[in-house]
Amino acid sequence: MTLKTSIDNSATDSGCSPTDSETLRKAGISTTSVHAGEVRQKHDGAVAAPIVTSSTFAFENTEALLRFVEGDEDRPEYGRYGTPNEKSVEAKLAALDGAEEAILYSSGMAAIVGLLMSKLNAGDEIVFFDQCYHRSREFCSKHLSRFGVVTRQVKTGDFAAMESAINSNTRMLVSESPTNPHLTAVDLEKFVALGKAHEVETLIDATLATPFNIKPIEFGVDYVLHSATKYLGGHNDLLAGSICGSREQLEPVRRLRGILGSINSSHNLYLLERGLKTFALRMQRHNENGQAIAEFLEAHPRVETVYYPGLKSHPTHQIAAAQMNGFGGLISFTVKDADWKETSRIVDAATIPRIAPSLGGVESLIEQPLVMSYFNYSPEERETFGIYDNMIRMACGIENTDDLIADLKQALDA
Ligand SMILES: *Cc1c(COP(=O)(O)O)cnc(C)c1O
Repeated sequence: MTLKTSIDNSATDSGCSPTDSETLRKAGISTTSVHAGEVRQKHDGAVAAPIVTSSTFAFENTEALLRFVEGDEDRPEYGRYGTPNEKSVEAKLAALDGAEEAILYSSGMAAIVGLLMSKLNAGDEIVFFDQCYHRSREFCSKHLSRFGVVTRQVKTGDFAAMESAINSNTRMLVSESPTNPHLTAVDLEKFVALGKAHEVETLIDATLATPFNIKPIEFGVDYVLHSATKYLGGHNDLLAGSICGSREQLEPVRRLRGILGSINSSHNLYLLERGLKTFALRMQRHNENGQAIAEFLEAHPRVETVYYPGLKSHPTHQIAAAQMNGFGGLISFTVKDADWKETSRIVDAATIPRIAPSLGGVESLIEQPLVMSYFNYSPEERETFGIYDNMIRMACGIENTDDLIADLKQALDA
C-alpha cells in the first residue's frame, strides 16, 4: 500500500491533522516526523505549512467571541497563548514522543524553568541526579532556592541515595538520560518505580537521546524535556524547547507559559518543523557516526577513556542497550598524559568540526569543556563534576563517517 492511500483522507478534508487517522497512530517514526500534527488542507493546496505572522486573531463578531470564551471553540486568540504554527509543531512533537500533549518554549532552559515554576511552591523539594546540564543545576541551586524550593542532589544512578533524599515535601525527581557530558544512562524503569512508590512526579531531560532513541513516556515518566535547539531542530540555526506529558498534568504548565511569554515566533517554528521532517534520517546518521567514532577513539593509543553508552566499556552500557534504540552523536573522551594545552592542540587540529558549544546539528562540533562551559568554575568544582583538563567533547554531525574519522586521526596523530 502506498503512503498516499494509506493516510486516511477523511480526516484531512475537514482540515484535521492526519494524526487523527489510525494510520498515523501506527506509523513509523519517519512517517510521524514528516506528517504528524499537520493540517492537510492548506491555502491553495500548499504542501509546506504557511508561516502565520499574525500576533492576534480576529473574531467575526461577538457571538464568535462568546463561543470561544465559553470554551465551545478551540482557536487562536492572541499569540502569547498559541499560534497555528505552534499548534502543529506541538502536535508533531507529542506524536514523536507518544505523549498526549507537548508545549513549546523559546529554549530548552525556558522549558525547564516554565515546568518547575508552575509545579513547585515554597517549601517543596526536588531530588536531582547530579550529572546534568550546568544551567539546569544553576537554576535550581541559585534561583529556585530564592523562592523557598529545596534542591537535593544525589549521585547519578544511585537510587538508594535518591530514595533517602525523598521526604514528605518532595514533589519531583529529575534526571537526564543520557547525561551530559558523561553520557550516563539512567534506568528509567527504576526511576519511574521510585517516583510511583513515593507518589512523586518524574522529569527526564531526554535532549541527548531524542524520541528516536528512547521514549520516556512509554516507561511512565511524567514529563519529558527536550532542548529542540539540538537534534529536533538539527541544523544549529534555532533555539527552542519542549515539555511533553499528559494533558491534565500540563494544563497549569501551559497556563503559566501564557504568562511567562517564553514562546517562539512562527518563523522559528517553521524552521523547527522543517528540521523535524528529516529528524529520523538525521538520527540514523548521528547514531552511526557516534558509534563508529567512539569505537575509533577507544582503539586509538592517545585516548585514555571514551564516554559513549554504545561502548561495552561504558559503565552504563547495559542499561543503555536495554532501553535505547541507538546512542546518539555525543561523545566525550580524555587524552592520555595530556595537560589542558596539549588537549587544546588536538581540538585546534581537527578541521571538520567547528569549535562551538551545543550538539545535535548537521555540522559536527568539538569543544574542551574546561575552556568552554566550565571556564568560570574552580578546579575543585570541576573535579566534583568530573570535568577534566584533558577532556574533549565531540558532537558528531551527519558528515561522512570516514571523513570524520580521518580528520580526528590526523588531529590525534599530529
Ligand atoms: C542544551 C541543553 C539544554 C538547554 O537547552 P537550550 O535550548 O540551550 O536552552 C538543556 N538540557 C540539555 C541536556 C541540553 O543539552
